[in-house]
Amino acid sequence: MARYRDANCKLCRRESEKLFLKGSRCYSEKCALERRQYAPGQHGQRMRRKVSNYGLQLREKQKIRRTYGLLESQFHNYFKKADRKTGITGENLIQMLETRLDNLVYRLGFAPSRKAARQLVRHRHVMVGGRIVDIPSYQVRPNEVIRIKEKSKNLDLVHAALKEVGRGEDLAWLRLNKAALEGELLEVPKRADIPMTANEQLVVELYSK
Ligand code: SF4
Repeated sequence: MARYRDANCKLCRRESEKLFLKGSRCYSEKCALERRQYAPGQHGQRMRRKVSNYGLQLREKQKIRRTYGLLESQFHNYFKKADRKTGITGENLIQMLETRLDNLVYRLGFAPSRKAARQLVRHRHVMVGGRIVDIPSYQVRPNEVIRIKEKSKNLDLVHAALKEVGRGEDLAWLRLNKAALEGELLEVPKRADIPMTANEQLVVELYSK
């Protein structure tokens, strides 16, 4: 399947915001955005002109899409599904992205980044509700237990991620049992409880044109 292969840090620099795509490096002084706070490329340091409404909407969409590591078509499909559901489209969209299995593996702290979490899932190290699930986009339902499978419990990547960042503990909608390497989605989180700064309403406006 197609995927983004260029440098991740360029994406953060383009959005002028940390998207936390590279694990522990993002929390260190090696973070590219700490060192070069301008957009990548030949014209990256040019003074920016006033940004149009369309420009603002596009940037918010790119920020969300890149944060969750999705291609354009995948992201647009999520939007269409969110639009068909009852409720607020923008909130539906973020909730669907947050309850993807790879995102929850990352949020629980079993992987240093969403990309690494996706790899863990694809390589069949993760179980949901007692069976192996190797589909990163799997939508986890409330009360489903996510667990690192028995044979994979010694993986250095998992322990290093839990030790270094320890995410998952302060999100009220997740339960983490570090010792057992398992976690649970307690409920679908409300938008206000999701630590993601982008304005999804601008994405709704962009796609509603
Ligand atoms: Fe973004 Fe992390 Fe790279 Fe910093 S180190 S620019 S937060 S991906």
